[in-house]
Amino acid sequence: MKRDTPYAGSRRDLFRTVGAGIVATGLSTLPTNLSAQGAPQDGLMPPKERPLPPSERVGYAIVGLGEYGTQQIIPSFAECGKSRLAAVVSGTPEKAQRIAREYGVPQAAIYDYKTMERLKDNPDVQVIYVILPNALHLEYTVRAARIGKHVLCEKPMATSVKDAETMIHECAKAGRKLMIGYRAQYEPYNLKSIELARGGTLGKLKSIVADHGRTLNPAEPRDIWRAKKALAGGGSLMDIGIYSLNACRYLTGEEPVSLQATQYSTPGDPRFAEVEETIHFMLRFPSGVLANCTASYGWQETKRYQVFGDKMALELDPATDYYEHRLTLTDKQGRKDIQVDKGNQFARMLDHFSDCVKNNKTPKTPGEEGLRDLKLMLAIYEAAKTGRTLRV
Ligand code: NAD
Repeated sequence: MKRDTPYAGSRRDLFRTVGAGIVATGLSTLPTNLSAQGAPQDGLMPPKERPLPPSERVGYAIVGLGEYGTQQIIPSFAECGKSRLAAVVSGTPEKAQRIAREYGVPQAAIYDYKTMERLKDNPDVQVIYVILPNALHLEYTVRAARIGKHVLCEKPMATSVKDAETMIHECAKAGRKLMIGYRAQYEPYNLKSIELARGGTLGKLKSIVADHGRTLNPAEPRDIWRAKKALAGGGSLMDIGIYSLNACRYLTGEEPVSLQATQYSTPGDPRFAEVEETIHFMLRFPSGVLANCTASYGWQETKRYQVFGDKMALELDPATDYYEHRLTLTDKQGRKDIQVDKGNQFARMLDHFSDCVKNNKTPKTPGEEGLRDLKLMLAIYEAAKTGRTLRV
């Protein structure tokens, strides 16, 4: 299994690990119902729902056949019940041909970046999924909305507030839905953690620690643009610190009221000439919860959080990986692992959006969710630059 970055495992590898049943091994004080599949109140597809026949599924065009699109998203359509791969858009014809062959996409449904507007005449495609470098999300989202397609867009939503607001505005103007690919909010272990944290099992929440790190490797194509501010918008914060930030928001269900930050990049390291290596930030929430978060391109294999309540502590490590999440609760009696049905977070996310498209519902992670994170990340940069505590 490829494990050179926190997010490098392939969906093909993952297929071997999914499908385990529900196992409930909790502390005595835990509620007995641990079958947290993404409860219906989350708006997710119930796990055992009958898959729709292909002709009734929502068709997706994937724009950008890079690492994430080809290794995680495209293979996950095989586990979807409401979504199907209907087209690909790429700047590299050989790659597009290979992927189309491998996944049964018809020749007529292969597009390039210049001819993407031809998708307008393809009734098999209802959603355009933008999986491009961050600064390109604006252009492709707007182009997709203007040809009448719904848009699923990767995180971070954009590199400026103006871009993000334009994306929301253009989709609304076109009467199309916009969702941001916050897959962790569709992942069963994160959903279980939300339920435990917000449902009172941990007692009164006091503090959260959330850490994300991976080493930036300029030898990998996916990391070349990540080192360029104009394409990435920022460094470790924009790329993976966003997981720490988003987790603090979904675990508390609150928005931070103030924040502090500090950042550091190894002097002379060419990888960090334009973007930051490491950033630490602290958030204060209205209920009094304090969160300590880190993000770094300088350390390896970290994607975890801990939630401390006055009765119990929760740890999810890894929390935002593609697979093998591990949830632990600790109280006075000791430490216990909690297992829930693993599910496929990518398929769940895709099917959630398909459900929204088919039934005219608002997605759980709309453009506004991406905009909130973006505003906070820009405030975190500002706090790191000025050394001031910012009210937000
Ligand atoms: P990648 O470099 O592997 O893929 C990017 C694709 O965009 C490539 O196919 C590349 O050819 C294409 N591209 C088009 N114009 C380009 C340009 N001007 N410069 C560089 N590439 C260009 O990157 P990735 O890791 O797949 O990331 C793509 C997006 O997906 C990013 O927004 C990233 O944050 C997001 N992502 C999300 C997750 C997640 O778990 N939600 C994981 C990885 C990446």
